[in-house]
Amino acid sequence: MTFPHTLTDDDFFVKIEGEKSGKTVAILCSIHGNERVGQDIAKEVANWKLDAGTLYLIGGNPRAYEQNVRGTDANMNRCFGDPQEVPYIAQHIDSYERKCAEKIMPLLDKCDGWVDIHQCNKDRTFSIPHGECTELAKKLDFPIMCTGYDTTHKGSTAYYASVSKDSTGNTKPGMTLELGWIHECDESVYKQNKDKGLDACERFLIEMGLIDKQPKPLKFPNPVYIHATYIYKTKSNFSVQGPLSDFDRLREGMTLGTDGEEVIICPAEWDGKYIMFPRNRDTADHEGFVIGERRTS
Ligand SMILES: [Zn+2]
Repeated sequence: MTFPHTLTDDDFFVKIEGEKSGKTVAILCSIHGNERVGQDIAKEVANWKLDAGTLYLIGGNPRAYEQNVRGTDANMNRCFGDPQEVPYIAQHIDSYERKCAEKIMPLLDKCDGWVDIHQCNKDRTFSIPHGECTELAKKLDFPIMCTGYDTTHKGSTAYYASVSKDSTGNTKPGMTLELGWIHECDESVYKQNKDKGLDACERFLIEMGLIDKQPKPLKFPNPVYIHATYIYKTKSNFSVQGPLSDFDRLREGMTLGTDGEEVIICPAEWDGKYIMFPRNRDTADHEGFVIGERRTS
């Protein structure tokens, strides 16, 4: 499984040019090295014919991909941007993942927008655009759209788009595409999620003018919007309670997990809201989970 060649620190992107001039965009993958579907998608997109513009297929984090782990020194999807604006970057300035981000950012600076392919939830595909590109994200046809992360998840590639300006001074579109579970053992589900990723990439390239054709009708013209409102930061560590998973609806009094000796119970103010990205953590001051609320747009 390669990208479409073997990914290395010095050879981590492919540049594809269309016949006519146009926008420059990027499709990022393997920012988290164990999320494998992105490179499978990039391998196929590398053979697409573009009508216009320039496409960078960027494979982030070669070392984590090689080792098939999420990251090696740091969470690479918090390493984009200015260390003065993003404390996480300042704390991980010498990490391998920040060094990779430093190589990728000049490419993104040339781009008019990007999508970044990830995997996390076995049952669902969803997009996480920054707040100023939700209309474009809607056209990529995901059943769920998670918003609010450009302010809660500083240092992500979508955040980096939200603080980048294109040649006309507008914020660049940028979003994460979440395509199912990392360790998918069911080949048919993996293929379904990969096909959704290819569909979203094609829709993105159509919207950005690189592919000249009519998009297929939307399956999800009215996606569910889940807006991130709160990040739980660990006091000493975090163990997720039992089967608690992304988009589970919370009820007051539910046990969410433990942090050191403390049992974390859902307070009244989170009743009816949703938990996202609950993850076991070994250390203090890490993201244990995110709380989101349903909105109509
Ligand atoms: Zn990821």
